[in-house]
Amino acid sequence: MLRLPRLGLRTRLSIGMVASILLITLGVTTTAIYFVKRHMQAAIANEEFERISAIAEAVDQKFLSRRTLLKTFGDSVEAHRPASTALLQDFLVQHTALKDAFANVTVVGLNGDLVAGLNAGLRAGTINIKDREYFRQTVATKAGVISQPYRNRLNGMAQVAMTEPVLDARGEVLYVISGAINLSEQNFLGQLANVKFGKSGYMFITNTNGIVIDDPVKSRILQRADAEGSRNPATGLAMAGFEGTIEARDRTGIDGLYAFKRIRQTNWVLGCIYPRDEAFAEIEQIERYTWAGALLLTLLAGGLVFLVTRSQLAPLTRLHEHMQVSRALSSYVAMTEPPPEDEIGDLSRTFDSLMLERQIAQERLTASERFLRDVTDNLPAVVAYFDRDQRCLFGNKAGLSMRGRTRADIGTMTMKESLPDAIYEQLVPHVAKVLTGSPTRSEGTYDRNGKEGFYECHLVPDVRDGGRTVGYYVMTFDITRQKVAERERAAGEARIRTITDNLPALVSHVDASLRYTFVNAHVRALHGNDELVGRLLADVRGTEDFKMVEPYVRRVLAGEAVTFEKTGYSTPGTSQNWYQSHYIPDRDPQGVVQGFYAMTFDVTERKRAEIRSAESEQRLRGLTDNVPALLTELDRDERVIFCNGRYESWLGIPPASIMNRPIREAVGEAHYEMRKPLLARAFAGEVVSFEQTAKLLVGERTLQTTYLPQRNAQGDVVGLYVLANDVTDLKHKQMQLDTLAREDALTGLPNRRSFEERVREALARTRRSDIPIYLLFLDIDYFKSINDSLGHAAGDAVLKEFGRRLKECVRETDMAARYAGDEFVILLEASTGPRAAQLVAEKVLAAMRPAFVLSNRTLQVTTSIGIARSEEDDEDFESLMATADSALYAAKKDGRNRFMMAASRSGTQHDVTWPRQESLAR
Ligand code: GH3
Ligand code: MG
Repeated sequence: MLRLPRLGLRTRLSIGMVASILLITLGVTTTAIYFVKRHMQAAIANEEFERISAIAEAVDQKFLSRRTLLKTFGDSVEAHRPASTALLQDFLVQHTALKDAFANVTVVGLNGDLVAGLNAGLRAGTINIKDREYFRQTVATKAGVISQPYRNRLNGMAQVAMTEPVLDARGEVLYVISGAINLSEQNFLGQLANVKFGKSGYMFITNTNGIVIDDPVKSRILQRADAEGSRNPATGLAMAGFEGTIEARDRTGIDGLYAFKRIRQTNWVLGCIYPRDEAFAEIEQIERYTWAGALLLTLLAGGLVFLVTRSQLAPLTRLHEHMQVSRALSSYVAMTEPPPEDEIGDLSRTFDSLMLERQIAQERLTASERFLRDVTDNLPAVVAYFDRDQRCLFGNKAGLSMRGRTRADIGTMTMKESLPDAIYEQLVPHVAKVLTGSPTRSEGTYDRNGKEGFYECHLVPDVRDGGRTVGYYVMTFDITRQKVAERERAAGEARIRTITDNLPALVSHVDASLRYTFVNAHVRALHGNDELVGRLLADVRGTEDFKMVEPYVRRVLAGEAVTFEKTGYSTPGTSQNWYQSHYIPDRDPQGVVQGFYAMTFDVTERKRAEIRSAESEQRLRGLTDNVPALLTELDRDERVIFCNGRYESWLGIPPASIMNRPIREAVGEAHYEMRKPLLARAFAGEVVSFEQTAKLLVGERTLQTTYLPQRNAQGDVVGLYVLANDVTDLKHKQMQLDTLAREDALTGLPNRRSFEERVREALARTRRSDIPIYLLFLDIDYFKSINDSLGHAAGDAVLKEFGRRLKECVRETDMAARYAGDEFVILLEASTGPRAAQLVAEKVLAAMRPAFVLSNRTLQVTTSIGIARSEEDDEDFESLMATADSALYAAKKDGRNRFMMAASRSGTQHDVTWPRQESLAR
């Protein structure tokens, strides 16, 4: 669709005014022209008709005057009655007036033959007009007629004939006088050709039969009017009898103003045609001038109106532009041009003042909104406003930030879009309620960085006049801290009650007015399960008991934490019990004492235990002080936590001086270093035992020391008991016993003593028989490391197994014995020579090769062997042993797990070495 540019009011008004003027001018001009034209046309038609009527009248007069002439002549013929035709001829010629009026006048007899004629050319008897209609009619009616036009038979001219009968005495027709009139004769119709209507308008005459009687085109005369085709409707009307003026179009297509009038004498139709163009030329000229004038007037008036309207409305346009511009501006500027003192001026002044009012109001609004925003942005709460459609119209920073919104979203986003979905779901029913006009308050939970958070939401309806709710305010606070604190408080109180109820203690809280505010189940039970909260301390406890605690109460209320013990409550059924009470002041944040907490424990058991343990310690000390041993208890940090009186009597160290001190300090650095590995083993859980000789105040003594790990319930070593028994006497006795004994207690082999006796006997025999004896001296390789790594008991087990295998390597007659520690000896008598001794040594090495199976592991054990042979007579036990020992030394030195033959004193070297096969331990 074509869109027309929007036109301004000024332009529309101007165009409207101009159009109105145009219309008015057009209307007035058209109407005026219409009436003027009609009037003028009527006048012209009238004039035309009057002219033609006058002409018709003139023609009528011509016919009338000619008839009078003919009648006069006819009357005179009747009166004179000429006797002959010649006389009649003369009589006719004498009437000269006829000659002027008619082209010819003839007198015709009743038989139609010409009797007399005015024209000399016509001879009697040459013409007969008996066939002429007018002749017959005249004879028949005995009255004169005017004939229809006809063409003269002699000269061919268009004529009409007027007749007049001449009657005889009897009144019969004697002659018919006929006067021919040339229609084209100058003084009859001929002058009609000169009558003009305008430039080309003309006159014409037809008879009622449509025969043209006169026409400017002479050829048409006596022809039918419609001979050339179409027939003019106006002419038709006229033939039917119409007289007057009428507009019509002629056969050549020219519009014309026709006027018709009958010629009475002949009943002919006299018509004239006045071409319309010419007839109304003047009117059209006037019309053109009028239109030109009207147009000019319109242009002038329209232009004037246009200019006036525009200039009058120019201030309005300026005001409009100013209004348009002002709307877009943030701060209003009044119009610079002073407004006119009229309605537009009033409008613009009103606009100025309204705009200024609006600006002030807006500034106030902005300021108050900024204030509101500043206030709400700094609130630890969400503040927002939503309209009925839940569209956000205000939201503070906290509210907008919930889903990362900005102030640009205000006005477009909905409540749903501004909140996390989970929260919105919770608020839906409350929103529905607030929209009915009632405020709501609800609490809910939300996801607070993965933890549960709580909020409290107030929805307040915005109710306008008439009770219509147009929106609602939202205020939401985070109450997580309160909620958590509340929960904790509730849980805390329940916990405190649970704890205090389950504590084996009387727990209570008393305020400054000495009334109970809290008591646990034990306190209640003590007082017959009565409700004690709110009751006075003195009332509940009784005067006597209260009097006892009163000094402590006073102290605690003065701000001191008080602890005291007392014996039993005077409650029936309780025996003499011990109680320990703690009064702790309850201060408010300012430090003012509000009351106190009281906690009382039944310490009867502890008291009794204390007494018991004091007594038993006394007893223990009395006992231990008299035990011939140093008794020590060490804790995990090697601190002395108990030592008996022997420290004083044996070492000169008073027990009190080393109590709670590290043992390192108590025994001295050098001694401690020696014991360190053993202590470590004991702390690792092993029972460590060793012997030592020490110089005590009571002389040199052998002490058998045992480190006994002390374990807690979990089995962890938490300390050590150290027992150092004086085994001097025992040792002494042992040695005495040993000298009597012949067998080694551990291996069951003969002991050193028994071996020595046997060797001495053998040596004595050798001196007699001269057969040498062989002595094999064995020492287990790396035995110390077996002891150190696996313990003494393992060492003993190795010794036992070693002795067993050894015994199997010697004959009945020979002897294997344990000499000392890891040293063993073999005596070979009646031997076949050094080779036999070597075989025994090889056998021993081979016997030890299979792994030693201990309780929890296997072990590879080797030995080194030194072999000596008795030589001279002066050979004794000591020298033989010394020789074997040095061979052993050589074997050890050579790499162990082998034997070595001692060189004979004669210089023969019999040493044989076997390679060491395997390492000591696998
Ligand atoms: P080597 O190869 O040089 O002989 O080295 P070794 O480690 O065997 O050294 P040595 O023979 O000197 O060590 C003997 C150790 O035997 C010393 C002593 O503590 C230990 N011992 C002595 N009597 C007994 C005992 O009855 N039982 C146990 N288990 N060990 C003993
Ligand atoms: Mg050894």
